[in-house]
Amino acid sequence: MSNVDLKQIVQQDKDNCWHHLTQHKAYDGDANPMVVVEGNGMRIKDANGKEFLDAVSGGVWTVNVGYGREEIAKAVYDQLVKLCYFAGSAGSIPGAQFAEALLDKMPGMGRVYYSNSGSEANEKAYKIVRQLAHLKGDGSKHKIIFRDRDYHGTTIGALSSTGQFERKNQYGPFAPGFVELSNCNCYRCPFGKEYGSCNIECAHALETLIQNEGPETVGGVVLEPITAGGGVIVPVPEYFPIIREICDRYDVLLHIDEVVCGLGRTGKWFGYQHFDFTPDMVTMAKGVASGYAGISCTVTTEKVFDQFKADPSDRMHYFRDISTFGGCTAGPAAALANMDIIVRENLLENVVKMGDYFQDRLFELKDKYSIIGDVRGKGLFQGLELVKDRATKEPVDEAVAAGVAGGCAKEGVIIGRTNRSFKEFNNTLCFSPALIAGKSEIDEIIDALDKSFASVSA
Ligand code: PMP
Repeated sequence: MSNVDLKQIVQQDKDNCWHHLTQHKAYDGDANPMVVVEGNGMRIKDANGKEFLDAVSGGVWTVNVGYGREEIAKAVYDQLVKLCYFAGSAGSIPGAQFAEALLDKMPGMGRVYYSNSGSEANEKAYKIVRQLAHLKGDGSKHKIIFRDRDYHGTTIGALSSTGQFERKNQYGPFAPGFVELSNCNCYRCPFGKEYGSCNIECAHALETLIQNEGPETVGGVVLEPITAGGGVIVPVPEYFPIIREICDRYDVLLHIDEVVCGLGRTGKWFGYQHFDFTPDMVTMAKGVASGYAGISCTVTTEKVFDQFKADPSDRMHYFRDISTFGGCTAGPAAALANMDIIVRENLLENVVKMGDYFQDRLFELKDKYSIIGDVRGKGLFQGLELVKDRATKEPVDEAVAAGVAGGCAKEGVIIGRTNRSFKEFNNTLCFSPALIAGKSEIDEIIDALDKSFASVSA
C-alpha cells in the first residue's frame, strides 16, 4: 500500500470508475475526480495530499465514530478469520450479540433482520407490509404511504416510495401501491399555515389520504424521523404522536427510516426517540457500523414478528426473504464495536452538547448573512437553507449553494448540500460531522462557512 503511485491511481480512477452522483463530463479535460486516500478522526486526505475536515461523515452521514478506529477493524478481522460468512436460516455470534445490544436501545422493539443497505432494509419492511396483507386478508391492504421530500433508497421499490421527484423522475415507471403524503416543512408549509396557530395539518393529512385511498387498501406508512437529503426537515413535537394515533386507528404499520438519524446522529440512539411514540418497524444502515462494514437492519416489534409464526407445515407463512450478504459476519462484528465506542465515549452526550453549540454558531451566521433563510436540525445533523430574499423565500440559484460548498472545500472543509439540479431544492447546506466533534472542529466549520459566505456575498 505504502508504495502505491497515487498519480497512477488517480488516472486509473479517471479512466475506469463511474462515480456516484457524478457528471463525468467535468473530467473530460484536465480536471481529475477526487480520490480519497486516508482518514483519521474527522480528517481525510486526498491523493494530492490535501487534508480536509469532513463535516459530512464520509460524504453521506455514515462514519459516525470517525476514521481510523483500529478496534472496529480488529473486531472485523478477528471475526472474519473465525467465520466470515454463512447465510440462510442460521445465526452467528456477532449477529446474536448485536441484535440484543441494539434492542436494548430500542424499548418496545423485538426483532432484528440483517441486510446490507438502507434501500434493502426498507424493501424488507415493504415486503413485511405486503406479506401481512396476504396473511391477514386478500392482499389488498398493500399500499404504502410515503412523504414528499423523504428519501428511502435507490432500488426501484425504495425509489417508488421516495418523495423527491428530482431524484426519481428519470427512472419510472415505478412500482404500484406507493402513495405520497405532503411534507411537514414549517419553513415552507404546504398548507400555508404557521406553527403556533396551525392545527398540525401536515400530520392530519395522513388520515385524509388513508380515507381517500380506502383504509382497506393502506398497510404501511414510511417516514424519516428528520428528513435528511430532502432538506433537513424536523417535524414539530405534535407530529408523530398524531401520526401514530392515525396508524393505530386504521391498522397501518408505522415504519421509521433511521438510515441517517440512527445510532446517535441527533443525540439519541434514534431520531424517533425525540418524539413520544413507538414505531412498528425501524430501518437503519449508514451509522450502524460507521462504514467499517456494510450492514443494515430492519427492526420490528415482537407483535409484527409473531404474525409470521405458524405451523412449520404451512409453507407460505414465514418471511420468504433472504439477503445473501446479510449473512456476512463483518457487519454485526463492526456494529458491536461501533456501539461500544458510542457508549464508552459518551458520544450521545457529546452530540447534544456540540449540536447545541453548532446550531448557536449557525444562528450567528444567520445574523450576519441575509442569504441564510433558515437554520434547522437536531444534534450533529444541521441544515442551512439559502434564499435570495428572506421575505419571499425564493431559493438561491444552484451556483450560489455550489459556490458556498466550493468555498468551504478551498478552506479545507467538506460540507454537503441537498439534491442538485432542481432550482427549488438545491439550496440547503447539510452538516453531519462525526459524533466525536469538539468545539474546535465546529469552529473550523463555522470559520470556513464564514469566509465562504463573505466571498459569495461579495
Ligand atoms: N433512507 C435514507 C433516509 C437515506 O438517506 C438513504 C441513503 N442516503 C437510504 C435510505 C438508502 O440507503 P442506501 O444508500 O444504503 O441504500
